Amino acid sequence: MGSVSYWQAERDQVVGEPASAGQLQGAAETDIAIIGAGITGTSAALWLARAGAQVAIVEARAVAAGASGRNGGFLLGGTSETYVDSIERYGHERSKRIWAFSQANNALAVEIIAALGASGWSCGYQRTGSLRIAASEEEFAEHHRSVALLAADGWHAELVERAQLPACLQSHYQGGIYYPEDGEIQPALLVTGLARLARDAGAVFYDHSPVSAIERTATGFIVQTPIGTLNARTLILAANAWLPEVGKLLGADWLAQHIEPTRGQMLATAPVSERLFECPCYANEGYEYFRQLADGRLVIGGWRNTSFATEYTSDETAGGVVQDQLERFLRETLRQPQAQIERRWAGIMAFSSDGLPLIGNLPGVPGCYIAGGYTGHGNAYALLAARMIAGDITGRSQEYQEYANLFAPERLLAQGEA
Ligand SMILES: Cc1cc2nc3c(=O)[nH]c(=O)nc-3n(C[C@H](O)[C@H](O)[C@H](O)COP(=O)(O)OP(=O)(O)OC[C@H]3O[C@@H](n4cnc5c(N)ncnc54)[C@H](O)[C@@H]3O)c2cc1C
Repeated sequence: MGSVSYWQAERDQVVGEPASAGQLQGAAETDIAIIGAGITGTSAALWLARAGAQVAIVEARAVAAGASGRNGGFLLGGTSETYVDSIERYGHERSKRIWAFSQANNALAVEIIAALGASGWSCGYQRTGSLRIAASEEEFAEHHRSVALLAADGWHAELVERAQLPACLQSHYQGGIYYPEDGEIQPALLVTGLARLARDAGAVFYDHSPVSAIERTATGFIVQTPIGTLNARTLILAANAWLPEVGKLLGADWLAQHIEPTRGQMLATAPVSERLFECPCYANEGYEYFRQLADGRLVIGGWRNTSFATEYTSDETAGGVVQDQLERFLRETLRQPQAQIERRWAGIMAFSSDGLPLIGNLPGVPGCYIAGGYTGHGNAYALLAARMIAGDITGRSQEYQEYANLFAPERLLAQGEA
């Protein structure tokens, strides 16, 4: 059945979709082909086209049809867990580098958003900071430790006591961490803006063209869609939750063991007159997230932990226990019995087996790159991930040496599950 997000509906009302070359038909050729037109694919197309490369995107549906047009619009630093958790899981040095990567990604986002703004294209960006909130005393104790570790490593984070939380949240949560450098965006507008910049730089977009087969040739790849083929020397897989499916077309069946399509659900209300919170908030280990837009609308998402069994799916239909929980939070915790729910939607994330993205060469397939598996945190990684891959392809990999191998897909193959 599917669903349409608040952001996609707003984007379609305001600007319509960017002009594309339509469906891929007949036999076409390009130097670099990209599969998927979310934040990863469109930004890869932008960096490559700006570097003078010939690039074409093949998208099953339309720009920002996937998670990139359906997410919370939180532009956060770091990983999805706390810094202390990250250090325990990945080690201190690696966590520092991951944190630096996401901060550099967000600086890049701000740069692009400013460039788009200068051309009259708004992405709804505000540098509001963000609030990570603890649902238990144990989680809050972890926050205390994280703030100390972040400060020691030179990152900005402030401890927030319970009494300093937004008033409506104080009876429900313990306290949290405020990250002043974070922000919020209208995600479908950002990705559509990226696509327009890429198109203006020479990238070609084929929409409504699902890739059904990929043939490896002596000189590269032939990407096949229902009524067309695209010949390319280099291939980038930017299909995130659909990477296992697309990877399978190249014999990379192992991806299915390491990337799990996972549904996230959201709702948006009509404008509410009371201002409840000033910045995007995420609570209870990130399972609950909510923000209030400039016009007063409440946008609430998460709660998949109340129904794990139904949410490991690629079905973008919204409903069930999770939507009930979102509404319950709105009515009971936020005390908004009258607020009108205008839209409910779902999107599909890609959870990786070690919680980190896969960015780099697809092992065993020379000339093919992959970026995805962002584990619900793609806005924090995708722009720089795409730029690193574009740098590799255009011979500028030395610019990203500090992040080399940080997210190399080989690390998962090395676990012996190929
Ligand atoms: C409800 C929800 C809330 C989220 N909140 C946040 C948040 O606040 N902050 C954050 O950082 N991240 C968030 N995320 C995660 C974030 O949205 C993703 O990590 C990110 O958008 C992934 O971008 P992408 O371009 O790699 O993939 P997608 O945007 O999913 O794009 C993949 C594209 O590939 C296309 N495709 C698939 N198969 C094929 C095929 N065979 N042929 C051609 N095209 C194909 C799809 O149609 C799709 O358009 C959230 C996700 C969801 C679902």
